[in-house]
Order: sequence, then structure tokens, then C-alpha cells
Amino acid sequence: MNELRLSRATHDRSAHLRLDPKALDAAWSDPRARVLLVRDSASLLLADGSDLVYLTPRQVGDVAPEDRLFLGFDEAGVPHFAVDRELVATGEEQRVTHLREISSRLSAGASGLFVHAVGLANWHARHQFCPNCGARTESTAAGHVRRCPECEAQQFPRSDPAVIMLVVDEDDRALLGRAPVWPEGRFSTLAGFVEPGESLEQAVRREVLEEVGVVVDEVRYQASQPWPFPSSLMLGFHARASSTEITIDPEEIAEARWLTRGELLDAGRRGEILMPGSISIARWLIERWYGEPLPKSNSWGGSRT
Ligand SMILES: [Zn+2]
Repeated sequence: MNELRLSRATHDRSAHLRLDPKALDAAWSDPRARVLLVRDSASLLLADGSDLVYLTPRQVGDVAPEDRLFLGFDEAGVPHFAVDRELVATGEEQRVTHLREISSRLSAGASGLFVHAVGLANWHARHQFCPNCGARTESTAAGHVRRCPECEAQQFPRSDPAVIMLVVDEDDRALLGRAPVWPEGRFSTLAGFVEPGESLEQAVRREVLEEVGVVVDEVRYQASQPWPFPSSLMLGFHARASSTEITIDPEEIAEARWLTRGELLDAGRRGEILMPGSISIARWLIERWYGEPLPKSNSWGGSRT
């Protein structure tokens, strides 16, 4: 079974050092220290996608301590930082690569550093002002807190929980839908943001009922994956429907279908159904239901990697 490619972090975040300027300086000055440049959810990767391009602090030049986003240490004890900066690929061996485009060739450790860096950088980019008083906030705690100098309020990196669910009926058919903005034929699992005052299970039931009018009884948690575009945490569920009649909400869903495994495969072979990208938890949920990775003979409209 394919892995959740963005859920494989292996680095030690060493959060206890974030308020220790001496330790952070020592890490930045460590001759082995590595810096990852990030901007708009992308970084520099080797052109074949097999690794990130790391710079030394010296190559990066002057960076104010508050702009050094401390990611932690890799398994060899090497300190890693991220810096939000314009990305310029040097030569043909490097390529500016969006986090969503990483291939299975990128190691778990590198993927984890990339996700952490993008999540932090996207949070900073969108939280420059205090939500309490409106003053400009300052980065602190090695980039893991923003503090307001006027009212002292602290803001922490946020993750917005979103539920995503593979719904089956009593015949084990999967319920897949297409959002109005998606290309013709693109189907995926249903999904939606958790609302205030709601449990995850309630969110699953509400979203399915709202989007397609199907009643869900059993809801079982499967796995989660950070999706920092800009700040989602996708919480994957398997859910069982107690009704099958579909009544779509046209604002959210253009089409929804119950599909057997054979119907999905046939429609995919004919090119009538395109699947979410191989990096998404939606694809992972669908393949878990399917029982194995969808055949590579068909790109399913996404990346083959
Ligand atoms: Zn404030």
C-alpha cells in the first residue's frame, strides 16, 4: 500500500530549544547546519526529485535570528533550519518544486522537513498582524510563536482540521463525488472543514448529509496528513452509509456516484474517471478501500510517481 507521503517526518523538533537563544545560535553556527529555502509552499529540489537542496548558513547569508525557522535535528544530529526567501534554481540540477509535487523518491526525513518548513512559512506569511489588537506581530520561539508587542497576545502556528471520508454502502460500494470547479470526470472522496463546537465524527456525518443527502452511521478514524496549503490537517475516515439515495447540494457537488471496485477500474480504463493525486489522503483512502494501489497502467489523471 502506498504511504501518506506528507506524514512521514523523522526529525527531532527539539521544541525545548526554541526559547534558548544560545542553543539556537550554536545550531546555526554548527558547520554541519543545513538551511532549506521555502516560498509559497515550494522549495529547491534536485531535478530528479530525490532530495532537497540544502544550503549552509554561510551560503544563505545574513538572516535575523527571528527569521531562522528552527526545524530540529535529523537522525544524524544535524541541525536544520528553514528561511522564507525567493527561490532561484541554480543550474539544471535544481528545480523549484511545490510540496504537492514531491515524488516517492524523496525520503521520509526530507519530506518531513519540507512539510514542517512549508507549514511554518505559510503561517508566518498570513499572520503578520495581531488578531486581538491589529498591531504588527513579531516572530519568536525560533519561528514557532508570533508575539504582539502591543497587547502581549501570543499566536501559535495553526492547523485547520478537515475531515475526509470514504463512505461505503452495505454492498461495499464507495461514494465518490465531483466538485463543480473540478475538471469533468475528476472524482474524489467527500471532505469538509470541522465547524466550531463539532466533533470529528459529527463533522463527517454532517458533511455527507449536506453534500449528497446520505445518512452515515458508523464512522471510523483511519489516518491523518498535514496539508499546509495554507494550514489544513486532513483527518481521514471510513464511514458506512445507512441510506443510498443521493441528493446533491449543487453548490458543493456537481455529481456523486456509488461505485464498485470493478466499475471504478472500468471507468478509469476508459478514461471516464480521474482520481485525486497520488500524494493526497483522498487517494490513500480510495486505495485502501480498493485493496491495493490503483493500476499504474492508467495515470488516473494524476502523477504516476
Ligand atoms: Zn495585540
